[in-house]
Amino acid sequence: MPQTEKPLFGHPWIFIRGVPSLNFLPPEGPLEVAFAGRSNVGKSSLINALVGQKGLARTSNTPGRTQELNYFVPDGYSGEAADLPPMAIVDMPGYGYAQAPKEQVDKWTKLVFDYLRGRATLKRVYVLIDSRHGIKKNDEEVLTLLDKAAVSYQVVLTKTDKIKAPAVPKLLAETADKIRKRPAAYPAVLSTSSEKGDGLDELRQAIAETVGIASWK
Ligand code: GDP
Repeated sequence: MPQTEKPLFGHPWIFIRGVPSLNFLPPEGPLEVAFAGRSNVGKSSLINALVGQKGLARTSNTPGRTQELNYFVPDGYSGEAADLPPMAIVDMPGYGYAQAPKEQVDKWTKLVFDYLRGRATLKRVYVLIDSRHGIKKNDEEVLTLLDKAAVSYQVVLTKTDKIKAPAVPKLLAETADKIRKRPAAYPAVLSTSSEKGDGLDELRQAIAETVGIASWK
């Protein structure tokens, strides 16, 4: 079956590699999208909800857990060059631990910036923002890093079930306004709730189109 006919989501995904430093990066192959966000933003929950697998990305709030880029691909590819997975999801280490020592923050920034600048196959970074908190100072710093690295990114609100329904469109508009002048930001902001499943199909479709697949189904 041609790759494009395999459903992108609703198809098992597997973890293939943790990347603690750039020499462990897999060779560039399939197009990638990455997920970034403050620790506890709901990143693991969102990745698991997107692929419909509870245990794929580790939901853990342990400060200082291994700072790695985690690579996930749809399962069922032979590894032959002709049968590469259609895309990879990269789970970036969370940022913004209150107690994070400076050297850990510096290590995070170096790994992430080196990755962002050097990865030709990285198509877009989804920057997750907790609906209850909005864009915080350290989110702004990450957006600036992405602007500097000239990597296209889209902001995705998480945990919308935690705020009142009418507040969601207001927050979407406010957030879009905040990033309006940022050069690498995709103008439209998405909203999601992993808990309720809201916005997941829209995000799946956005990801599929980003990597050149017409539909995620
Ligand atoms: P990560 O550190 O960004 O990977 O965040 P996790 O996915 O581990 O989630 C952090 C906490 O937020 C956990 O207690 C989750 O159960 C909770 N959480 C994640 N997504 C949602 C959501 O959509 N709605 C609600 N209400 N809670 C969520």
